[in-house]
Amino acid sequence: MYFSKLNQSGKVSDYQYPASKVVCVGRNYREHAKELNNPIPSEPLLFIKSTNTLVDIEQPIVLPRGQGSCHHELELALLIGECLDSSSQNYLSAIHGVGLALDLTLRDLQSSLKAKGHPWERAKSFDGACPISQFKTLDQISDIANIPFSMTNNGDIVQQGSSEQMIFGFESLLQAITACFTLYPGDIVLTGTPQGVAELSSGDQLLLALENKFHFETSVK
Ligand code: ZN
Repeated sequence: MYFSKLNQSGKVSDYQYPASKVVCVGRNYREHAKELNNPIPSEPLLFIKSTNTLVDIEQPIVLPRGQGSCHHELELALLIGECLDSSSQNYLSAIHGVGLALDLTLRDLQSSLKAKGHPWERAKSFDGACPISQFKTLDQISDIANIPFSMTNNGDIVQQGSSEQMIFGFESLLQAITACFTLYPGDIVLTGTPQGVAELSSGDQLLLALENKFHFETSVK
């Protein structure tokens, strides 16, 4: 999947670049860590979703069949615009855009993988496991330190949060990530989910809101 590069006015320019990876953080909101009976981490818990997971969130979501429950995890997504590594000076200026993503998770499978101490890719990195919105440039975002976001399912609010509630904020997350992995232009960072993760079902109608200003609508096939 290719993402349009946005220029400073928020208009799409001709230049496009591919994502090479989606770096995710687990348990970055206290109430979500508690709802799954997980400890509050002392450093970011990182994992990667591969690029086969990326699909347009405004297309109908296709759930894997026969693998138990598939949960939504609504997350703020950062589009990286510049190379970032452990020697970088200014992490926030490398953020090119902010959007919303669903970190789709096969929860039953993840629980059995966790119990065995196995990696999570089977539960987190299946085809289509990362529906993602278009990105908004930073000048379209009112306050990067407090970006409210939410999602309704069939009209009921199921998840809501704000970047100010994150245990590790954008800057410390990017520092922790780039201590392990260089980030390239086009890479995406998912910043963790607030409480309210739940199972998706065929026919669900989802409405996602970023800063109560930008809305993305989708459904489950
Ligand atoms: Zn997640």
